[in-house]
Amino acid sequence: MGATTDTAATLDYLARALKTPTIARVWDQLASLAREEGWSHEEYLAAVLQRQVADREANGTALRVAGAHFPAVKTLEDFNVDHQPALRRDVLAHLATTTWIPKAENVILLGPPGVGKTHLAIALGIKACHAGYPVAFDTATGWAARLQGAHQAGRLEHELRRLKRYRLLIVDEVGYLPFDADTANLFFQLIAARYEQGSILITSNMPFGRWGEIFADDIVAAAMIDRLVHHAEVLQLAGDSYRTRARRELLQTPPTSGGNQ
Ligand code: ADP
Ligand code: MG
Repeated sequence: MGATTDTAATLDYLARALKTPTIARVWDQLASLAREEGWSHEEYLAAVLQRQVADREANGTALRVAGAHFPAVKTLEDFNVDHQPALRRDVLAHLATTTWIPKAENVILLGPPGVGKTHLAIALGIKACHAGYPVAFDTATGWAARLQGAHQAGRLEHELRRLKRYRLLIVDEVGYLPFDADTANLFFQLIAARYEQGSILITSNMPFGRWGEIFADDIVAAAMIDRLVHHAEVLQLAGDSYRTRARRELLQTPPTSGGNQ
């Protein structure tokens, strides 16, 4: 026997008041199942709450992934580590756990174009979203424009404080375009504001030794690198571009019988 109309109405009202739409949706069908299978009251309550929590977590992850503005969806599972024989698997596995984010540690991915830096940055960002951390992704040029806008509006302090609600900031493509001294200084302020407060993941095609060229000034670059790497994993990627390799493999005529390899 199911719930009386009164009980049903009360449950729907209570689920609305609690803002738990999943409970409103599932209590009835789970109650039938509970009766059929002879669950205890505690088992039934746990099953109902568990469905609500699962939906809320899934919604939260979807919202965080949408809010991060990733340029594409890339996952760690899709990353072919065989293409990066020198990449430290243990470090990558550690980063995938996201335990570095509550410690406000940083990640720096270095390497030439096409080796998977952006792919890994997105994949780690998505892991962070799954683990419940708000993430924001943009290119270095994109971040520069945001910081300049805030600075010109006299709201740089406010913007830097606002960005703290993101537990992970991803700054992609540092080095493709050099910055003028004012922009370099804004970047320095961003990194100084997050130092030991919130994680940053940076990708760059330039080794640290050449960051002076990106940030218009060796001293600013050194001060920035100093803060970034104090608590950080630095991963060096290498090899040919995955893009051109995939294209080459595609264009290659398959060897006829017994081709010499
Ligand atoms: P980068 O940011 O270093 O220039 P990307 O991350 O944009 O390189 O990689 C270029 C393309 O190749 C992307 O489509 C990416 O998904 C793919 N790619 C690169 N490395 C790998 C890899 N090891 N496994 C799978 N896909 C890869
Ligand atoms: Mg890239």
